[in-house]
Amino acid sequence: MTKIRLMVLAAAALLLSSVVCLETFAQTGQVIAIRCGRLINPTDGSVTRNAVVIVRGERVEQAGANASIPAGAKIIDLSAYTVLPGLIDCHTHVLLQPEDERGAPPVVTKSQAFRTVQGVAAARKDLEAGFTTMRDLDSEGAGFADVALRDGINQGVVPGPRLFVSTYALTITGGHMNNAGLNPDIPIPDPATVTDSRDAMIAEIRREVKYGADWIKLYATGTLRHVDPVTLEPLSQVSLEEVRTVVQEARRWRRDVAAHAYGGDGAKNAIRGGVRSIEHGMLMDDEALKLLVEHGTFWCPTLSVYIPETREDDTDMRRRIVAHHKEVFRKAMTMGVKIVFGTDVGAFEHGTSAREFYRMVDYGMKPIDAIKAATVTAANLLRMDKQLGSIESGKVADIIAVEGNPDEDIHALGKVAFVMKAGQVYKTPK
Ligand SMILES: [Zn+2]
Repeated sequence: MTKIRLMVLAAAALLLSSVVCLETFAQTGQVIAIRCGRLINPTDGSVTRNAVVIVRGERVEQAGANASIPAGAKIIDLSAYTVLPGLIDCHTHVLLQPEDERGAPPVVTKSQAFRTVQGVAAARKDLEAGFTTMRDLDSEGAGFADVALRDGINQGVVPGPRLFVSTYALTITGGHMNNAGLNPDIPIPDPATVTDSRDAMIAEIRREVKYGADWIKLYATGTLRHVDPVTLEPLSQVSLEEVRTVVQEARRWRRDVAAHAYGGDGAKNAIRGGVRSIEHGMLMDDEALKLLVEHGTFWCPTLSVYIPETREDDTDMRRRIVAHHKEVFRKAMTMGVKIVFGTDVGAFEHGTSAREFYRMVDYGMKPIDAIKAATVTAANLLRMDKQLGSIESGKVADIIAVEGNPDEDIHALGKVAFVMKAGQVYKTPK
């Protein structure tokens, strides 16, 4: 055996043993005591000074000012930081990169294998930015790679947030997530699955669930290119009956439906038809907002991704859409719509999702309510509220720490210094 081969084998053995170590660490119930300068409980908005969080294995055992530190516990000193639950981004694209939004679509320029490699790096960046859970809504042409990434993360192969994935999404011929402007004579796969009948929708949901989808993503309206430049009316892609079909079939498999919907009839049909969340919704009218409240539907506004960043994007129409988004967001807050935090990260740089918090607060939301949207309300959306969303006895130990007071200055969430997911530490203060 050559020296190099021996070295490779030794390195592999070392890597394997460190993975095994991490696993045993969580399973054997090693106790960690985290000293917190300030501890935020987003459930009631309270802040406790000099609190202690006791973590045993992957769970929180105790949290608060009176938690006693068991003998032999490993101490993590975060007394110079504010500690809060791991953040949940309810609208991500871990397999998408900013460059995929420009020029030729990634189904043409990149292999799914390459996109997966990029996704592995993206997942790590998002985790290190404090996002311990993400609902990933559409692999956008990367097929079932989101399932593979989710499973790889869950098995400890690569670091990343806990993912809830939707694989492909349902669209219509000519609608959103079709390749636009390409030669029709060259067969190129569309990023989403074209389902032009209720039977096709049912069959597609079964296929997605079979290969690992946790959520069903439905394009209930078109995208920006489909919005009427005069009236700002979005393209409605679904009837009420079609949405009911999708929701019913998803329910058979105990899955929920997230509907991309800008507004108009598409959004109303989606809400009335029983989807669990409306994505974007920037062109919703008052009737749609009332329907959200009546049906208890969650709204994931993704505010920041629509702000024009290039000269090309900075059109009169885009400015009108952004102004409408802001107005809808303000109304939704006063009406008591269940708002969840979501970013559309992937359309912009991974690891920079805190920018959505800044925008929410800039539009009038209190910092603590923006934190709630990314923790307790988000955990509710995911039906994971008994496991995630706050640092309380019995919940999964997803814990982050930031410099400063994010409940006073939301920009503190851009400086995440510590990340723990399910009792494992992924980032510590430098
Ligand atoms: Zn999206």
